[in-house]
Amino acid sequence: MSSPGPTKEQPAKPEIVSYDPATGAEIGRVPNLNQAEVAAAVERARAAHANWRRLSFYKRAGYIWRAREIILAELDQLAELISREAGKPALEAISLDLSPSLDLMQYFARNSEKMLRPEKLNIGLFGLMGRSSRVEYQSLGVIGIIAPWNFPWGIPSGEVVMALMAGNTVVLKPSELTPLTGVKLGEIFARAGLPENVLQIVTGDGATGAALIEAGVDKIMFTGSVATGRKVAAAAGERLIPVVLELGGKNPMVVLEDAHLETAAEAAVWGAFANSGQACASVERCYVHESIIDKFTELVVAKTRKIRQAAGTSPESDVGAMSSENQLAIVDDHVSDAVAHGAKARTGGHRNSKLDGWFYEPTVLTGVDQSMKVMRAETFGPVLPIMPFCTEEEAIRLANDSSLGLTANVYTSDIGRGKRVARQIEAGTVMINEVIYTHGIAQTPWGGVKNSGFGRTHGKLGLLEMVSPRHIHINRAGFMPDLWWFGYTKTAGKMFRGLARRFATGSVLETTLVLPQMIKRFLEKKQ
Ligand code: NDP
Repeated sequence: MSSPGPTKEQPAKPEIVSYDPATGAEIGRVPNLNQAEVAAAVERARAAHANWRRLSFYKRAGYIWRAREIILAELDQLAELISREAGKPALEAISLDLSPSLDLMQYFARNSEKMLRPEKLNIGLFGLMGRSSRVEYQSLGVIGIIAPWNFPWGIPSGEVVMALMAGNTVVLKPSELTPLTGVKLGEIFARAGLPENVLQIVTGDGATGAALIEAGVDKIMFTGSVATGRKVAAAAGERLIPVVLELGGKNPMVVLEDAHLETAAEAAVWGAFANSGQACASVERCYVHESIIDKFTELVVAKTRKIRQAAGTSPESDVGAMSSENQLAIVDDHVSDAVAHGAKARTGGHRNSKLDGWFYEPTVLTGVDQSMKVMRAETFGPVLPIMPFCTEEEAIRLANDSSLGLTANVYTSDIGRGKRVARQIEAGTVMINEVIYTHGIAQTPWGGVKNSGFGRTHGKLGLLEMVSPRHIHINRAGFMPDLWWFGYTKTAGKMFRGLARRFATGSVLETTLVLPQMIKRFLEKKQ
């Protein structure tokens, strides 16, 4: 099948065409919005913010609950749309895109108010001086969400819900590979009665995403590749727009010698091949203790051979098509490079020639080493390279030998040992005896370290990305001047030194020893 999709080199087209990666058939078209159209959407969103931010949490949640009901009622149609656009099995669209999103909707509809409640701060000894502080959370304004194609529903819908619950309006730019799913998300919220312009979907290509930043939104939530993330951060930096970057992963799985082998092997297979390996948290490197690697590899190979590959819309599909020919070419390049350097493909190792679309066979590689592309660059495809290690220290060193740090997985039957290893791995999330799935837990933070980005989505930390904290400080003894104000006399000098030595210890007892100097200073200021 030739590549029917537009490439990024071609000049801007008035329309974006969405193709089914399993067949190459056109599914639909959407406008490729230009700079002026995106700027107009952001202006409308800014105007809508004035009313939206004033709504109570209860009212905002009402729209989320109604949208949730519509999603539930149309679950299978939505799964089919996601499956057709992104190539994944429809059941996986339910389990990995829609179901986590439904859970997140209920969680933030119920809990955002509590999480954003004004917070009284303990200001230590200043409190004894008649002062108090609290932090209140303000909506930011217009949040620009730039989303990838791999979880075209799960990723943007969660960010939309968190942004809306925090009182922001949203302009969402879906990937040009999955625009219809983005448009559907907007439609569902509109049918749920969401006021006009509170959520707008701007379809288009990379230039449309760039235009969203150019339009001066109040925050950018970007999920995508490291390369685009750099461009987004630079453009946002020019305008001092805060940005959360959720970028790629080269996620290691460490299988210690005391792991439950059968389960660890099954986890590796699902972790590497679910969503055709196109999850930012996919298992991309598997390090296995030398004493169990042969048995482990045999189990992995046997389980991989049982995987059924077919169009995502087929009920017989475990692994569907890749999202684009571009992505398939990257996978092919990484596997060919590994094989050329001595690796062995124990399964797969090539495109699935029995199927017409962009299918790559689930591939288990052995004989890999740390210098190969497949162990260094994000592959983002159905490839599981397996490599041995001798000691726990070596496993940790190998796991950390990457410029990326999104997730990591440790398999062991000794949880204490798992925690010890987990704490030494450089990643935003380390799962012990688990793979991929914590993005689906609404309560837990998601985000990376190193080149995997910064900032968090999901959980309270994710919700806090959607607000600006306003600190309100009250001095109830406002009728008195502060002792550290002008008039830097000798008395002031003595008192300042006393405060530096005693007040700054935080001890009430020590501070009382400065009281005589403070009284002197007070009397001096009164004159
Ligand atoms: P891309 O970086 O290619 O694109 C991401 C989004 O950015 C798309 O909507 C894209 O539009 C848009 N875009 C492209 N150029 C620009 C630009 N100059 N300015 C603003 N926006 C732009 O990523 P993919 O869609 O290919 O997604 C795959 C990547 O996403 C992988 O690296 C994966 O690891 C990462 N990812 C990270 C996750 C995380 O949580 N950390 C989760 C999921 C994926 P268009 O598609 O129209 O070009």
